[in-house]
Amino acid sequence: MAGYVYEFSQGGRDMADLLGGKGANLAEMTRLGLPVPPGFTVTTDACREYLATGEEPGELAGQVAHALVELERRTGRELGGRDNPLLLSVRSGSKFSMPGMMETILDIGLGDASVLGLAKATGSERFAWDSYRRLLQMYGRTVLGIAPGLFDRRGSTDDPARLVEDYKQVIRDATGEEFPQDPGAQLYRSIRAVFRSWNSERARLYRRREHIPDDLGTAVNIQVMVFGNLGPDSGTGVAFTRDPATGARGVYGDYLQDAQGEDVVAGIRNAVPLAELERLDPPSYRQLIDHMGTLEHHYRDLCDIEFTIERGTLWMLQTRVGKRTAEAAFRIAEALVDEELIGEDEALARVSGAQLARLMFPRFEAHVDTKPLVHGVPASPGAAVGAIAFDSAEAVRRAATGEKVILVRRETTPDDLPGMVAAEAVLTSRGGKTSHAAVVARGMGKVCVCGAEELTVDVEARTLTAPDRTVLAEGTVLSVDGTAGTVHLGALPLTDSPVGRFLDTGERDGAFTDAVARTLEHADSVGRLGVRANADTPEDATRARRYGAEGIGLCRTEHMFLGERRGLIEAMILAEDETGRRTALDALLPLQRADFAGILAAMDGLPVTIRLIDPPLHEFLPDRTELAVRVATHPTAHDRRLLAAVERMHESNPMLGLRGVRLGLVVPGLVEMQVRAIAEAVVERLRDGGDPRAEIMVPLVGTVEELRLVRAAAERVLAEVSKASGFTVDCPIGTMIELPRAALTAGRIAEAADFFSFGTNDLTQTAWGLSRDDVEASFFPAYLAQGVFATSPFETLDRDGVGRLVRIAVEEGRATNPTLKIGVCGEHGGDPDSIHFFHDTGLDYVSCSPFRVPAARLEAGRAAL
Ligand code: ADP
Ligand code: MG
Ligand code: MG
Repeated sequence: MAGYVYEFSQGGRDMADLLGGKGANLAEMTRLGLPVPPGFTVTTDACREYLATGEEPGELAGQVAHALVELERRTGRELGGRDNPLLLSVRSGSKFSMPGMMETILDIGLGDASVLGLAKATGSERFAWDSYRRLLQMYGRTVLGIAPGLFDRRGSTDDPARLVEDYKQVIRDATGEEFPQDPGAQLYRSIRAVFRSWNSERARLYRRREHIPDDLGTAVNIQVMVFGNLGPDSGTGVAFTRDPATGARGVYGDYLQDAQGEDVVAGIRNAVPLAELERLDPPSYRQLIDHMGTLEHHYRDLCDIEFTIERGTLWMLQTRVGKRTAEAAFRIAEALVDEELIGEDEALARVSGAQLARLMFPRFEAHVDTKPLVHGVPASPGAAVGAIAFDSAEAVRRAATGEKVILVRRETTPDDLPGMVAAEAVLTSRGGKTSHAAVVARGMGKVCVCGAEELTVDVEARTLTAPDRTVLAEGTVLSVDGTAGTVHLGALPLTDSPVGRFLDTGERDGAFTDAVARTLEHADSVGRLGVRANADTPEDATRARRYGAEGIGLCRTEHMFLGERRGLIEAMILAEDETGRRTALDALLPLQRADFAGILAAMDGLPVTIRLIDPPLHEFLPDRTELAVRVATHPTAHDRRLLAAVERMHESNPMLGLRGVRLGLVVPGLVEMQVRAIAEAVVERLRDGGDPRAEIMVPLVGTVEELRLVRAAAERVLAEVSKASGFTVDCPIGTMIELPRAALTAGRIAEAADFFSFGTNDLTQTAWGLSRDDVEASFFPAYLAQGVFATSPFETLDRDGVGRLVRIAVEEGRATNPTLKIGVCGEHGGDPDSIHFFHDTGLDYVSCSPFRVPAARLEAGRAAL
C-alpha cells in the first residue's frame, strides 16, 4: 500500500519533494524537539493523482482516518467533539515556497455542538463563536468558492454568534447547501480544496513568474490548532534569525497580541516589533530566541519563522530558509563562515554574480515608490538622474557645463559614442538586451533602459512623448533605473553603492563590503577560469585591473580610427597609388603606437590581446545618402572621389563582407602598419623598463591559409622591429574563432595559432544565421513569447549548437597544439550561465567588459566548486 500520509515525526527536511517545504520543515522541527503542534502531512503524490484523475487515491481516506485517530489518542481530544474539541488546520505547502498563493483553512472541526465545548474549555464564548465565524468564512471561500465580498457585506454586527448565523445564511444562499456539521466531511473537503488551489489562477501566475514547474503539486499539512487569539497573553508573529534586508544580527520580526496568524498577513491590526515581546512575555521571548538559535545552527542559514503563543505557551508553526536581499546574502554567508557553521566554498555557492552586479551601482532609495513614466528592458544596471538630451552633440554640450544628462534616442549607433560617454544613462525606444545601446552601455558601466516602445522619440521636434501623452522637452529631468527597467519623471533620491566604492578604492568600510571582498578573494582562489577584460583605452584598462582583470582579452583597434583620425583612413582608402597609401598609413602608425603604449603601460605585466582591425572599412566613411546630397548640392572634387569610393565599397551584407582578416589580405600595408605599431609600442615599454605582454589577434579567420598569410606578414614585421631596436619582440599570434568553419577546422587552424579566442557574438550570428543588430526589433519578441528561445542566444550561450562548435574547436585545437591558450571575448564572457559552460569546456579564460569582471570572477569561482 502506497503511503500517502506521514506523521510529522516520520518526515524530515530532505523530503520536500514529497511533503512540500512546509511539511518537511514541520517534520524537521518536530524531530529537533521544538514545540510544534502535532499533525501529519498528505503527500504531493496524492495531490498529483487527484489533479490528474479528479479523484484522490483510494487508500487516502483510510490513511488519513488512521492518522487522525492517532492524533486524537495523543491529544486526548476528539475532532469536533462536544467537550474540549480537537480543531485542525489544513495547510497547503509545495516543494518551493509560494507564499499566500494557495489555501489554508483554520479551525476545522467546529460546528453547532463543538462551539459550545470550545467555549467551555477556553472560558471564552466570544472566542469560540469568532473561531466558528472564521471557519465559515474560510471554508465558504476556499472549499465552496464563495466570493469573499458576500461575507464582508454581511459583517455589520460585532456579535460573533449572530455573525455565525449570518454566514451560514450566506453559504445557504450561495450554494443551496448547509455548512457540513460533520467534522470529517469538513476535513476531507478541505484537503481536496487545498489540492485544487495548486491550480488557482494566482498560483499558476506565480509559478510562471518564478519558473516553478506546474506538475509538482502541493502537500497538505493537517495540524492541531493552537490559538493566538485567546486574550492578551496570546498572540502570533513572524521572526527572522537575522535581518533579511541587511543580514545584520539582531531580533527582527513582528508580533501581534491576541490575534491569529491570518490577521498579521491581512494587516488588520498594527503589529509591534518583535523586540516588544521581551516585555510582554519574557519566558516565551527567551524560548523563541533560543529556538531561533537552534534553527539557524541546524539549517546553517537565515531562517524565517511563524509562531503563535497560546496563553503563555509558545508554538512553532513554520520555518524555512528565508529569502534575503543581495546585500544580506553576502553578509550572512560570510558571517556564518566566521561562526564556523559553513565553509568558504559553501558561502561562495550561496551568492551569485548577478547579485554582485546588482550591488555595484548606485540605486534609487528603496522606499521611493512613484509610478514609472514608462517600462523598458533593464539593459544595464544602476540608477541615474539627468536631463534629456536628444543627440550625442547635445549630450556632450550639456555635460561639458557640468549638467548630468540622459541620452534619449530611438536607437544608438557608433556615432552616438561621445554622447553615451558624456551621459549618465542611455534610454532608447527600440532594441533589446543585445542592441547597440545595451551592449555599449554595459561595457561602459552606464545605466541603460532600452526598448521602451511606448515612448515616442522625435529627434527633429526634440520631444519625447510618454504613454500618457505627456510631451517632454529637451532638458527635462528623468530618473532611469537600469536594474528595474523603469523611467521616472523628475529626480528620485539616489543611494551610493558601497560595493562600487570598494571596487574602486579597495576600501572595506564595514561588514558588508568586507563580506563581498572575502567572497571575491575566495572565488579567485578556487576559480580555474581566468577573467580578463575587453578594453580599448588606458582608462578602461586601468579600471579593469582595479576590478581584478588578469589581462585584456580583447582590445579593439577600430575606435583608434574614429574621430579626427577619420581623415587619415579616408586618405588611405582614397589613395590612388602606393605612395599615397604609404603616407596615410605612416601617419596612422604613431597614433596607434601611442594608443598601444598607453594600454600596455596600464596592464604592465599582464597579457593584452590586440585585435587587428575588424569592421568593414566603409564604416569609417561618411553615409552614402548624405554624401550624395552633398555632391549634388555643393560638389567638390574630394567629395566626388569619396562618393565613388563609398559606392565601390558598398556591400549589401557587410557583416559577411570585406572585413576582419579579409581586409588585412586585401589592403596592402594595413596588417604591417598595425603590427609595427604594436611592436614599437612594446619596444617603447621595454625601454622604459616595463613588462609589456602584447598578443596579436586576427579576426574572422575561416581557413588556416588566411592565418598563415597574416602570420607570415606579422612575423616579418616583428623580426624587423626586433632587429632595428635591439629588443626581442616576441608576441604570440592567435586567431578568433567566430565562424563555424573555423570551429570545424580548428585542428588545422591551430597549426598556425598560439591562441584561440572565441568571438561568440559572431559565432552565434553565423551559426544561427541571425543578424544580431536586426533580429531584436523584428522577430525575437515573437520567438521568445512562443518559447522558441528561453533567453536570447546572444545573452546566454546556446550550449547545444554554438556550444557544440566551441567544444569541437577546443578539442581539435588542443589535439594539434596542446599548449594552445583558449579564451572567449564575446558578450557571453560576462554571462553567469555561459561562464559555467566555458569552465566545463576547459577554456583558460573569459573576457568581458570591465564592469562585468567582478561578477565574472565570482562565477568563475562558483563554477569550480
Ligand atoms: P501560508 O503558506 O500562506 O503562510 P500557512 O499554512 O502558513 O499559510 O497558514 C497561514 C497562517 O495560519 C499561519 O501563519 C498561522 O498563523 C495560521 N495557522 C496555520 N496552522 C495553524 C495552527 N495549527 N494553529 C494556529 N494557527 C495556524
Ligand atoms: Mg505560512
Ligand atoms: Mg567578431
